[in-house]
Amino acid sequence: MSAEANRPQPVDVRQRRRGLPRSFRELTPSNHFNPRTFFREMVWKAFITERSGSTKVPAFPRLGHGELALTWIGHASFLVQFPDLNLIVDPNFANWLFLLKRLKRPGIRPQDLPPIDVVLLTHAHFDHFHKPSLRKLPPSPKIAVLPWGCGSLARRLGFERVVELKWWESFGAGEWRVTLVPAKHWGARTLRDSHRGWGGFIIEHQGRRLYHAGDSAYFDGFAEIGERMRPEIALLPIGAYFPDSFRHVHMGPDEAVKAFRDLRADWLVPMHFGTFKLSFEAMDEPERWLRELVEAERLHRHLRVLEEGVPERF
Ligand SMILES: [Zn+2]
Ligand SMILES: [Zn+2]
Repeated sequence: MSAEANRPQPVDVRQRRRGLPRSFRELTPSNHFNPRTFFREMVWKAFITERSGSTKVPAFPRLGHGELALTWIGHASFLVQFPDLNLIVDPNFANWLFLLKRLKRPGIRPQDLPPIDVVLLTHAHFDHFHKPSLRKLPPSPKIAVLPWGCGSLARRLGFERVVELKWWESFGAGEWRVTLVPAKHWGARTLRDSHRGWGGFIIEHQGRRLYHAGDSAYFDGFAEIGERMRPEIALLPIGAYFPDSFRHVHMGPDEAVKAFRDLRADWLVPMHFGTFKLSFEAMDEPERWLRELVEAERLHRHLRVLEEGVPERF
């Protein structure tokens, strides 16, 4: 039986075909369904669900040259530590995104972060580019690196320098380098800012290579990224894929596994699930389904599901 056939049947919702979403309102399927269904499924169910998970005071490991530690904060937010460099990707500590309740506590509090050197922002959507969270980062001098058209959003957020990149452009200093790579998604945050870019990042330092895919649907770009950059560690989104029209801009666990194979990476680290309810699949479905697929495809030695707030050495 195929993995798709095994997939638990989610709530019955009306599906309508539509083009690429263009606004924040479409971060959630609000426009796909009647307002009452949307409100019940996205807002009310989350509202009455108790927030789970625990915020920890992390024990950051002491790292040697060429070692890196990865701490999942939740959703798409990660702290990436090298012995002499700390980066944070898409930091989000919000308990609420407008009406949407955070259902799992952030793994760390911003005040427990080490000094941050580089902040990578994959795109301007509110679950990734969250200004109140950026203002809470430690006040150390830090550089923001983000896609074209997003720099104007980073003003007065405490950055010493803001660098916009196009796909395949890199920025770095000394030994480290970050490269913006393509993703199949979109960049507009509101109705009138379709000039904003989006993408994923490859982080290279001390001979290590890590890939954060940002938000993306499955596309042939993963094979190209694998070919050109050959990342070891792939942080791939696995949530917000139902109804199927969402797969124009997001991946499910099945496509994340395909992307992982295309990338030819060593480690698959799933993200973008379990924190905010942005779509109609059950909150616990992405991780459960991913574990089944990984087991069936004998990839279990390559999977590392992180616990929020617990640093892992790679
Ligand atoms: Zn997005
Ligand atoms: Zn997202």
